[in-house]
Amino acid sequence: MSHTRPSRAAQQLTESHARHLHGHRQGPGPHPQLRRYAKQLGKPLDRLVISHGHPDHYQGAARFGVPVRALPETIAEIVAVGAKTDLPTGTPIPLADMTPTVEFTPGTEVIDSVPFVFEKVTGGEFHTTLVIKLPDQGVLVAQDVVHNRTHLWFLDKDFDGWQANIDRFAAETDYDTVLPGHGEPTTPAVWAELTDFVNAYMFGPKS
Ligand SMILES: [Zn+2]
Repeated sequence: MSHTRPSRAAQQLTESHARHLHGHRQGPGPHPQLRRYAKQLGKPLDRLVISHGHPDHYQGAARFGVPVRALPETIAEIVAVGAKTDLPTGTPIPLADMTPTVEFTPGTEVIDSVPFVFEKVTGGEFHTTLVIKLPDQGVLVAQDVVHNRTHLWFLDKDFDGWQANIDRFAAETDYDTVLPGHGEPTTPAVWAELTDFVNAYMFGPKS
């Protein structure tokens, strides 16, 4: 199946993925790379979508000055974690600056003529994650279900849950571009690599 390039709206949203929101190294304000990218599109950034309640994905959210959306479970998680401190500057980040303002209901939404499918995924890296699909473009914004050539973060030790998500998305063959939560954009080849990684973790190196 061939796909057209993601539309500008799609790029706009997917590029706002919070891997650019890490609090460390960038100081106050959105990541300079993201700011440049958004400017070059010539379109306003009008929303930010937070995928899940890990601080490296939401800590800088308020700095964009746009409505921030997340699943109710994610908002609850962010509130439970509470206020944070930016590193290495030590600048306090009040909880209100990081709490999404709009509750998201999973489903399909057409933005600038492009259908976006917002899907709630459970288990794996974290209990609740929002995955975004662009069926017309064949793009899967997999968030932290996929770490491309970076270490999977097994904090929750939910190996089976992670593998179940990998298997489910691997079976959805309409998506030829996979945007990971960590690492470079990739292809469905990543599903086999992730499976190897999970297995190596669960069972140790093969002799
Ligand atoms: Zn992450």
